[in-house]
Amino acid sequence: MNSSQLFERSKKVAPGGVHSPIRSFSSLDRDPIFFQKAEGAYLWSVEGKRYIDYCQSWGPLVLGHRDPDVQSQVEEMISTAWTFGTCEPYSLELAEWITSRIPWVEKLRFVSSGTEAVMTALRLARAATGRQKILKFEGCYHGHVDSMLVQSGSGLAGVSASSSSGIPVDVEKTTLVAPLDDVLILEEIFQREGSQIAAVIVEPLPANYGLLVQRKEFLQKVESLARKHGALLILDEVISGFRVALGGMAELWGLKPDLVTYGKIVGGGFPVGCYGGRKDLMDQVAPLGTVYQAGTLSANPVGMVAGLATLKKMEKEKGWKTLEKIGQSFEEKIRPLLGHHKMEMVRFGSLFWCHLQTPEPIRRVSQIPPQQKEFFKKFYHHALEKGIYLAPHAYEVGFLSLAHTPTLLDQTVQALGKALQGT
Ligand SMILES: *Cc1c(COP(=O)(O)O)cnc(C)c1O
Repeated sequence: MNSSQLFERSKKVAPGGVHSPIRSFSSLDRDPIFFQKAEGAYLWSVEGKRYIDYCQSWGPLVLGHRDPDVQSQVEEMISTAWTFGTCEPYSLELAEWITSRIPWVEKLRFVSSGTEAVMTALRLARAATGRQKILKFEGCYHGHVDSMLVQSGSGLAGVSASSSSGIPVDVEKTTLVAPLDDVLILEEIFQREGSQIAAVIVEPLPANYGLLVQRKEFLQKVESLARKHGALLILDEVISGFRVALGGMAELWGLKPDLVTYGKIVGGGFPVGCYGGRKDLMDQVAPLGTVYQAGTLSANPVGMVAGLATLKKMEKEKGWKTLEKIGQSFEEKIRPLLGHHKMEMVRFGSLFWCHLQTPEPIRRVSQIPPQQKEFFKKFYHHALEKGIYLAPHAYEVGFLSLAHTPTLLDQTVQALGKALQGT
């Protein structure tokens, strides 16, 4: 069966035929591709066509698909056990690896997704401060927990409207939303509501609504205002953690989170999330404290060994340096080409995003050119035709991995050049 036939079948059993909305390609006016195999930087569709993959399962696969060192650990684990639901040494090893390298993670908990990590970090922040409100930023994604699906709808800072139905009004009331890159509004919100804010949560490298690289000073301001008003700082490093550096953006920019959330890379491509931070806060989690959080498959051993094998390999091979080099070379090669078509690339390490040229760097959602979506739709079809698989949405970033060799990058630049000519 081909992809379209499979999609027809799938639509009968799953809403929109998918198990996560963007997979449906709905903003691209075409059916999605069904894939059946992956290796390194490649994906193979059910039709047998090969693609160079720049989505990499949305970020976890920093070494590429089925890295042999990770695979051997996974196979060994599976032949031993795949879940215990008890104490076991595998999560201990990963927890020690992380806490011994990241000073602001004194203690941590493994869960099964980034959403769960964020949800619990927020609960913990509320418990620890005795306050109700959470401040988030427009354009930052923190998973699909109710309170994080509230965004600024009206354009009025601090007044919220949900970007999903089904969110209780009371939850909306406790979520404040600020635009990124605007110190004045931020100060105003803190002045007005500072004493009620339990935590500020931010993606220090917003990478879920384009790649909205922030000014370092803005994030420092977020941190200092939170401190001044007794609110906790939660850095959501589910994408940036272990990708832009071992210690994520916090390490690169010297930020000091009270709590931090990880996901994606930490599980090496298996469903793992993690929250951690100050010991005095983490000790408020059950069974030591009163903040409840549990999970049937928490710290799943297969995810634990995959995550550890991934991180050990990244460290041993100085993977973060290599990713920066790969990113740089990709950017240099593609920049002139994009320029011909009035486009440009924003890149931070191994994350990239292409958009229509703008007079100034895009740091806020409102600065994204409205024609971006139409353009991307046309471009995307041609890119697929030429064997390049990008994340299927105009606002999603691309991911490079250690499997993206110079030869593959050259092939990609050539293919994208042809794809752009088609637009
Ligand atoms: C992906 C992501 C999440 C959600 O993680 P899931 O594992 O999809 O639940 C949360 N925050 C950020 C910054 C993410 O990129």
